[in-house]
Amino acid sequence: MESSHVENDLVNILFTEEQIQQRLAEMAAQIDEDYAGRDVLMVGVLRGAVMVMADLARELPRHVEMDWMAISSYGSGTKSSGVVRILKDLDTDISGRHVLIVDEIIDTGLTLSWLVNSLSTRGPASIEIATLLRKPEALSMPVEPKYVGWDIPNEFVVGYGLDYKEKYRNLRDIGTLAPHVYS
Ligand code: 5GP
Ligand code: MG
Ligand code: MG
Repeated sequence: MESSHVENDLVNILFTEEQIQQRLAEMAAQIDEDYAGRDVLMVGVLRGAVMVMADLARELPRHVEMDWMAISSYGSGTKSSGVVRILKDLDTDISGRHVLIVDEIIDTGLTLSWLVNSLSTRGPASIEIATLLRKPEALSMPVEPKYVGWDIPNEFVVGYGLDYKEKYRNLRDIGTLAPHVYS
């Protein structure tokens, strides 16, 4: 598949690479201020959060540790299966640590509310969430991200780590897919 074909599959660009980097810089400045004098362990949720983690971490003018978890709550399509399970656990002992969960999108909030509960049992000093995107449905869930890039409408988006059937993660922008892609 040629890159031009990939870009052609996007029907609407919601956020460009420049807008994303600008917003992450703002979020990083806030995080740096909030965690003054405290060490942060950033926990990225694979695989979608890879791009956000890489860019957010590099905007932080301080030492940070990064670790990763893989959690499955979705099938390969666009709808949640409602099932959450750990595919890859942390390598780090988080007891006494200030944990900042990094994710690319909160949709129903199911995955992250489950993850926060799960990590809470390990005795961290604190747990907060940074997410680039949040959908309206998440607002009614018991998950409260301290750092949110943007609230977006209830549409399925791809790019910048977000996939459709494991494709489109490597797009630099975030957008919606043309209907022909789904059929
Ligand atoms: P939640 O548990 O909040 O419903 O879903 C979280 C996960 O679902 C996200 O980390 C992401 O992997 C996937 N997801 C939710 N909404 C979208 C979307 O609009 N586009 C893509 N590509 N993935 C999504
Ligand atoms: Mg994710
Ligand atoms: Mg996915």
